[in-house]
Amino acid sequence: MTNKIPAFLPFTKPTIDEETIAAVGDVLRSGWITTGPKSAEFEKILSDYFGGRPVRCFSNGTATMEVALRVAGVGPGDEVITTPISWVSTSNVILAVGAKPVFVDIDPLTRNLDLNLIEAAITPKTKAIMPVYLAGLPVNIDQLYHIAHQYHLRVIEDAAQALGSSWNGDLIGSSRKNPSDLVSFSFQANKNLTTIEGGCLVMSTEEEAILAQKLRLQGVTRLGLDQMEVDVLGGKSNLTDVNAVIGIHQMKQLSLLADQRKKLAQHYFSCFEKTKLVSQGLELPIPDFIQSNWHMFQVVLPIERLKSLGMDRASIMQKLKDLQIGAGVHYPIITQFKLYQDLGYKAANTPVAQRVGESILTLPLFPLMSNADVERVVSALETALQGV
Ligand SMILES: *Cc1c(COP(=O)(O)O)cnc(C)c1O
Repeated sequence: MTNKIPAFLPFTKPTIDEETIAAVGDVLRSGWITTGPKSAEFEKILSDYFGGRPVRCFSNGTATMEVALRVAGVGPGDEVITTPISWVSTSNVILAVGAKPVFVDIDPLTRNLDLNLIEAAITPKTKAIMPVYLAGLPVNIDQLYHIAHQYHLRVIEDAAQALGSSWNGDLIGSSRKNPSDLVSFSFQANKNLTTIEGGCLVMSTEEEAILAQKLRLQGVTRLGLDQMEVDVLGGKSNLTDVNAVIGIHQMKQLSLLADQRKKLAQHYFSCFEKTKLVSQGLELPIPDFIQSNWHMFQVVLPIERLKSLGMDRASIMQKLKDLQIGAGVHYPIITQFKLYQDLGYKAANTPVAQRVGESILTLPLFPLMSNADVERVVSALETALQGV
């Protein structure tokens, strides 16, 4: 058995226990399968988790962010400052409400919005800032809100990847010390907590929560036993009870799964330390074991050296794949997509993001992995980057 081929290691995989699967069966048998008691229970659990703030759930994190923009009153003629290194939904929702995304370059170390560049991008039309916490690493929340308050801007935190992350001891979304604005989370299959698809929005006031609730279901308000009113144009993005019950069970495991992610990330660093990869130009993430939830472990490849040898990220991914290692790209720069090019955006205007977008690579990291898996990944990467 010396030539045994190891099983393929994907870059991520959800952790769903038997109790969760049984609970889904119970909901399916209950006679009430769409938004109902389980969704309400999940919202209550989330609200408690975020220190009692109003929370509403949605069918996905994209709908959540679009509703957040509408709650903030962002619309045609408004500009929203955001990062070009994110899942494209971040800027798509800005376009969807008729506003204009303004892309600011990223910090090469955090790979998040470079907050020092925000003030220069503010115009009289700027209505909001939409930061993204890539891989679960938050931006400097104090600096972010300092700028927002100074210029009277709303903040819509795209915290899709940052459930369980924190800033100065405050959970992202909870704002015990610093009141935060609108905070959006995704529960898509790859996220640290999943409901298969889903999301939630944390707000500051009950009025905002009532508006969000209307926006997620046709603008309807139920009155008495037989009446309803519609006073705003809403869409259809409610979370079903089948999805919600998965979330209820995932919440019970959240801190256990987070610990496992953190331990694996720490093991990555100790494995990388024993290699020459960093001196070969490989860039590791910031080793933050306090504030990040380690949603992903991302490296930046030495792209110039690879190109000079006739290689690129795809060739490294192919070599990893041959060694049964999955890797992901999170994310290509948004401004290079045709839709955005056609709107006049240029990737070259944000050079750090342009370089990171073509050289960032997500390595496998999920709670079911073992230390041996981490060692396999680092050794495969050494093989793939041999001679670079
Ligand atoms: C996942 C994700 C979203 C979108 O969430 P969906 O639930 O897939 O709609 C938005 N922004 C970021 C940064 C994400 O990672």
